[in-house]
Amino acid sequence: MTEEYDVICIGGGPAGSTAASYMAMKGHKVLLIERENFPRYRLGESLLPSTNPLLEELGIIDKMESAGFPHKTGGSFTWGKDDEPWSVIFAENPFLPASFGYHVERSVFDKILLDRSIELGVEVRQPASVKDVIVEDGRVAGVTFKEKGDDTLHQARARFVLDGSGPAAVVGKKMTTRSYDEKMKQTSLFTYFKDVVGEPEGQQGHVIVTTTNKGWFWYIPMNSDELGDASVGFVTGQEFRQEMAEKGVEKFFYEALEETPRVKAMLGEDATQIGKVRGVKDWSFVCSELAGSGFFLAGDAAAFIDPLLSTGVTLAMIAGYTSSVCMNTILQNPEMEDQAIQFYDGNYKRMYSVTRDALLYFYSGNDIDAKGVFWQARKLMKFGDNACAKQSFSHLVNTVAANPHPSAKRQIHMLHQFVEKMEHPIEEMSEEQEFEDLVMSKGASASPLSPEALLLVNGNLSSTCVIESETHTLKPVRGIMFDEDRPVFSSTSSWLLGKNFSEMSEELLSVLDMLDGEKCWSDVVAAWGKLQGLSKERAESAIRPIVHKLLSERFVRISDA
Ligand SMILES: Cc1cc2nc3c(=O)[nH]c(=O)nc-3n(C[C@H](O)[C@H](O)[C@H](O)COP(=O)(O)OP(=O)(O)OC[C@H]3O[C@@H](n4cnc5c(N)ncnc54)[C@H](O)[C@@H]3O)c2cc1C
Repeated sequence: MTEEYDVICIGGGPAGSTAASYMAMKGHKVLLIERENFPRYRLGESLLPSTNPLLEELGIIDKMESAGFPHKTGGSFTWGKDDEPWSVIFAENPFLPASFGYHVERSVFDKILLDRSIELGVEVRQPASVKDVIVEDGRVAGVTFKEKGDDTLHQARARFVLDGSGPAAVVGKKMTTRSYDEKMKQTSLFTYFKDVVGEPEGQQGHVIVTTTNKGWFWYIPMNSDELGDASVGFVTGQEFRQEMAEKGVEKFFYEALEETPRVKAMLGEDATQIGKVRGVKDWSFVCSELAGSGFFLAGDAAAFIDPLLSTGVTLAMIAGYTSSVCMNTILQNPEMEDQAIQFYDGNYKRMYSVTRDALLYFYSGNDIDAKGVFWQARKLMKFGDNACAKQSFSHLVNTVAANPHPSAKRQIHMLHQFVEKMEHPIEEMSEEQEFEDLVMSKGASASPLSPEALLLVNGNLSSTCVIESETHTLKPVRGIMFDEDRPVFSSTSSWLLGKNFSEMSEELLSVLDMLDGEKCWSDVVAAWGKLQGLSKERAESAIRPIVHKLLSERFVRISDA
């Protein structure tokens, strides 16, 4: 018998269960199919503060607290131009939605998320495996699946299938093609320890990242009966594949650890390893389409990005949320399907590319043991197709200055921290105030406008959508999208939520529509006056305050030409 649903979610990891819970909260009929029995092990323990608003909305913050997950208050890095550790403190960054995230034991965390889906009314089949995707006239229309221990092939149909199946990417592999990032093919070796000394004074609760000759280590504080007090991983390159194969991962890991006194000190003399050293490929990739007719991909099924910035689970949950907004919108208003797909696909890909640039900036900006094969190879990494690291760095500074996004001002402290530590010096920015002056100095005022002045839209004037959180739907809007000239450090989650966009009022749009890059100021006034039915004098006095606002907020700039 075929069963009918609004949405089928494949996978009960953070992506699948988040999407399923939100859809159930909106009253939709949801089926979630998960291959394994929970609790089950998963790697990826360090979450970002951007998950907190979702955990609150899902109603599970109290469960996070009672699970005893340590608060992640920041990150400490030994990375960059000198050997001194430096920290990013979340509480100091007003750009973030919370002052901490969580370090979680994934088996416990993923079960909390999935149990919540069940409480909210999601029908969960577990353990059950999706075997195939049903495609009719090019549209994904459902799945076939088998329950564990039963050979019956079931069929379930839905308006949408959400692929949250992680690396298995059941829909992703069938409907799209993956492109791997040649510059981001790394290998990770990891294990767990109990009875450790712990993080140094001032760095408690931080994820600790330390570079070493052949790569970098993470140290994540944990509070787990099963996995102990710390997750320790070593990210290294393909360059050492042969050596790793000859020595075995255990020996390769411990040799690297011996060369990394900071991690050894956190472990201390009494630390006991729990479980073996495991190895996993961490190759960054993105699928050609992240949504299409009848399907959405979320989390590792859609894209994977190197673990340096601890983005994996956070992005999986935010993609689960955003995809649920898109599916809810289409179920309410089927004419919006194309717009919703474009919104999701476009923002997800922008997020991937911005985060990738930030990672390349990081990898190429480390000067520790410049003679080591690992770091030598990464110093040569290029940002984009034609810019080297230093060019990209000044691109960052210049585009933040030119970028009118309201968060730019609030990001100054964070930007300064990164910039100051990387091996990309810019002399005039040793102090945070100097950095702020440099970043914010490029505003313009409306007063010096000569009749010949050429006004340009700063960004792309676009029609897109924004998320209306109260109704959990997309709202079509027009405004300025910051796409090509993007600040590298804009938060990954804000791209995925489609927030790097400023909605404009009709009044502002009436002027922006006139700025075609060719009309000078006097022509703009004349054209705008004609449209508004105003005399030249009245048009000039009416348009000036509108343009002043656009210029002072940097939505418009005056051409240097
Ligand atoms: C070395 C390394 C370190 C990392 N460190 C971090 C970190 O510190 N912080 C962080 O946030 N992220 C980290 N990550 C990333 C993180 O592991 C993933 O991004 C995250 O688990 C993705 O969640 P997901 O829901 O997309 O997929 P998953 O968590 O993989 O869940 C997918 C689910 O789908 C199920 N499934 C698969 N196939 C089927 C099928 N056919 N039918 C039914 N069910 C199916 C699976 O059983 C699984 O439960 C790291 C990754 C690596 C490689």
